[in-house]
Amino acid sequence: MLPYILNTVRSNANAFCNISKCCECFLVHLLTVFSIITVKDITHGSDVLVKKLTDLGCSVYEDNTGEQIGGNAGNIYAVLEGSLEGSILFSSHMDRVANGFGIKPKCCGSRIVSDGTTILAADDISGIAAILDGLRRIKASGSPHPRIEVLFTVCEEVLVTGSRYLDYSRFQSKIAFVLDSPGRIGRIINGAPYKAQLIFEVKGQPSHAGNAPEKGINAVVTSAKVLSRIRDGRLSPSSTANWASFEAKGPSNVVNAYAIVSGEVRSATSEELYAYVEEFRKVCADVAQETGAEIIPQVNFNYEGFLIEESRPSICLMKKVFEKMQIPVIIERGGGGMDANRLNTNGIEAIGLATGYAQNHSSSEYIEKDDLIRSGEMVENIILTREY
Ligand SMILES: [Zn+2]
Repeated sequence: MLPYILNTVRSNANAFCNISKCCECFLVHLLTVFSIITVKDITHGSDVLVKKLTDLGCSVYEDNTGEQIGGNAGNIYAVLEGSLEGSILFSSHMDRVANGFGIKPKCCGSRIVSDGTTILAADDISGIAAILDGLRRIKASGSPHPRIEVLFTVCEEVLVTGSRYLDYSRFQSKIAFVLDSPGRIGRIINGAPYKAQLIFEVKGQPSHAGNAPEKGINAVVTSAKVLSRIRDGRLSPSSTANWASFEAKGPSNVVNAYAIVSGEVRSATSEELYAYVEEFRKVCADVAQETGAEIIPQVNFNYEGFLIEESRPSICLMKKVFEKMQIPVIIERGGGGMDANRLNTNGIEAIGLATGYAQNHSSSEYIEKDDLIRSGEMVENIILTREY
């Protein structure tokens, strides 16, 4: 299958003008890692990557996260030993969001796009392609290098779940680069929010809606009372909340007795996140007391946030890399969680790096070809800059 698709890609090289190794790797993975139908179902893709890493001279280990999350592949750790001191970690995720099956990539000016019926999955196959291309470049150049650690995670797109199960003691690196961010190459994500999922269940009292409505406690109306008293949307410059799901079902002749509502809160600071969680719990308690309904709030803390100061080694290194590559640098906080959140929580300084894609998670997703090509060069330059 793989050689056949490689030949197909190569024979269509005109359509993908000036195809580079990095571009080729990206396209091959788009087309071959096609069993990524769901975020947990990535067996075929992970097997391809294990082989590629092994062929590059890495020792490769796959953990049992698949079993723990009900998926069929684990996180992949790879190490390319080097002759120089130091260690550096690169990471991307193997899963993709829904509608990532049967992708038909094509060139559209300076960009690679899908045919408009699926996502492109540049998030995050482009990161994987760039890391593999960086390793290939290092091997081809024969340059001495330090220990290079590679991490390809599963189930990142569902609450950054795969990296929750990592064995962080396997890593020797003190800094990590997570190639998993939208934007042009040169964009550095130095922060990401804390996040919690919020759920409340309302247990009311059923009663005949026509004969005895006063004996009932309406769970739908009670839920609406909670929602009307709790803030939503932009909470502050650094915090947001989003109430996204409201489920209740019942015939109109019975006072509704059950509803479940869920949402999320994100914040750049743990203080604001915890303050909103307390506000949520208080509103639930107040409305329960007023209405007589049972309201059960549930808070699932998904991940911790991070903020890497510009003076930190990972960012100083990237400034040097981009100066050498003559690429303008943009340093921004991101609005979503990523594997860098968990790496930072576990003591590894990690930042996000863009690889040129945009409008990810939609059928309008695209990637700038030049950025994709230069992302492999970026990985090579990070390794060669050697300040870690
Ligand atoms: Zn991603």
